[in-house]
Amino acid sequence: MIPHKYSPESLMMSHGYSPEWSEGAIKCPIFQTSTFVFKSAEEGKAFFEVAYGIREKEEKEELGLIYSRINNPDLEILENRLCLWDEAEDCAVFESGMSAISTVFLEFLKPGDVLLYSNPVYGGTDHFIKEILDKFGIETIGFYPNDSKEDIINTIEESGKADRLAMVYLESPANPTNDLIDIKMCSEIAQKYSTNEKQTLVAVDNTYMGPLWQHPLQHGADLVVYSATKYIGGHSDVIAGACLGSKELISRMKTMRTFMGNMAGPWTGWLLMRSLETLKVRMDKQAQNAAEVARFLNNHVNINKVHYLGFLEGEKRAVFAKQCEAAGAMLSFEIKGGEKEAFKFINNLKLVKLAVSLGSTESLIQHPATMTHAGVSAEEKEKLGISPSLIRLSVGVENIQDLIHDIERSLKETTIEEKIANY
Ligand SMILES: *Cc1c(COP(=O)(O)O)cnc(C)c1O
Repeated sequence: MIPHKYSPESLMMSHGYSPEWSEGAIKCPIFQTSTFVFKSAEEGKAFFEVAYGIREKEEKEELGLIYSRINNPDLEILENRLCLWDEAEDCAVFESGMSAISTVFLEFLKPGDVLLYSNPVYGGTDHFIKEILDKFGIETIGFYPNDSKEDIINTIEESGKADRLAMVYLESPANPTNDLIDIKMCSEIAQKYSTNEKQTLVAVDNTYMGPLWQHPLQHGADLVVYSATKYIGGHSDVIAGACLGSKELISRMKTMRTFMGNMAGPWTGWLLMRSLETLKVRMDKQAQNAAEVARFLNNHVNINKVHYLGFLEGEKRAVFAKQCEAAGAMLSFEIKGGEKEAFKFINNLKLVKLAVSLGSTESLIQHPATMTHAGVSAEEKEKLGISPSLIRLSVGVENIQDLIHDIERSLKETTIEEKIANY
């Protein structure tokens, strides 16, 4: 008989943990400890040889527990569980999404290297690319969601830096406009500029879609990064990040993490394991709710346009069909009017909360032009379609009738006031 392969959601409660380790406790306890006792000096020596790369691990040898900056059971078990969703060989967990992202750049780029990146990227990533990489002598080239493969290759060639291209970094769908970027296309560009001496890596920030709805490693990416603060944590109560990929690349990430000291603590590891048990039901419900909300908004007279992956057409629809497994739970839409109407609508909501962040159980709404993307220049905002009327909504797990009621009522109040003001 072919052994039955369990789905990740069935394994989230138990994978990688044995109750025997902890007095039969069904749940992995919080290993709130800074250091671990070695059985003997010989064992301590063996653990350090592996940890510091003095010798290769033997076939079945696991890295022993040494010190919680290097490893801790709550992180290791969490990492094993995260691997299941993306079918990754290994995973490294960090204290924030930004620390996972900055560690990718610091480990895999060096002075003189060139980074090709998609626009728009998350504000923190954008700052790191533009302000911090520059200090280390790393040059950058940006591209846009509507650029074709030929356009991007032309930009690289015209820059005269093609031989130094070390990494392609992208975010898809883009925040807040839901523009898709073809991961496979990026991986072909990276291959074109890879040589025997130097592999050009592809890293994808999959926070918007992962780990359920899009699996970049299966479309040619080498690394996938997450803000685990979003869907993975899912309850707006923890900041964390993760990076997944091959054993070889993640081993480099973990070494860098040891020396940066930006690993997550055991409490964060435990919280995220708890979150992962309901990841599938939460994300399924959020996607279902989002489809209903998108349909409602799309039919509303006071909404001009809804940016939702389920509504893509043409070439972008083909990219969606190829690389996404669901339309997700992030929407943005343009309300009739401008900033004034957008603010009025947001302020009138009762159930949906006004806050940045996304992917949580509660629905969150915000105004990109003045909030998450306030730092983007006016010219760039226009280019990216971040207008004063654009509103971003992360759909939660609330009752769908309640959500639609809240949105409908607020839209009504917004327009009624407008009409009076116009008279
Ligand atoms: C939130 C976010 C980040 C940063 O993650 P933190 O956990 O806040 O450090 C990076 N990328 C995307 C797409 C995000 O939404």
